[in-house]
Amino acid sequence: MTVHFHEEDLPEGVLAPGPIAVDTETMGLITPRDRLCVVQISDGGGDEHLVRFNPGSDYAAPNLRAALADPERLKLYHFGRFDIAAIRHYLGVVAAPVYCTKIASRLVRTYTDRHGLKELVRELLGQEISKQQQSSDWGAPVLSDAQKDYAASDVRYLHALKAELDKRLVREGRMELAQACFDFLPHRAELDLAGWPEIDIFAHM
Ligand code: MN
Repeated sequence: MTVHFHEEDLPEGVLAPGPIAVDTETMGLITPRDRLCVVQISDGGGDEHLVRFNPGSDYAAPNLRAALADPERLKLYHFGRFDIAAIRHYLGVVAAPVYCTKIASRLVRTYTDRHGLKELVRELLGQEISKQQQSSDWGAPVLSDAQKDYAASDVRYLHALKAELDKRLVREGRMELAQACFDFLPHRAELDLAGWPEIDIFAHM
């Protein structure tokens, strides 16, 4: 249970095979304007890896890119739409295939409109996570221990959440619909980047 901090790339060979949980921290919500500062990765084995990018970075990161672009590796996100767009824009790779715990939650937890990570972790896993550092300065030259712990906690529970959400998707007969949504998600992120951010292209009006 260790948080590993790296600059500019993931070291080679630190991830076990299988699905990886992925999250990003940026300077804000407008992807082309607000640079990518941190990418967090967990292979579900208990350790988290934080990769920090400095201002003016060339985002070369060959090891990180290879893991994200690996078609054999499922990427687990919570609200992957944002992270996939940021990774596509800054690292130049489509980080798929995809599983998104927020979409899965929306498809099975129809009794609530609370689909935040904190709420999901509390209800499905009985754990408490803090969201206090969410809106902090991720571009700072030195990240605080609280920031590092927050960043790591955003990928820490995604494997366990997937296991719980999969049970419910099967129970409610919505696994196929969920998979179709996951398959579309990289294209939804591409539409965001291409200029259709908040426009529903399926809408009549
Ligand atoms: Mn995060």
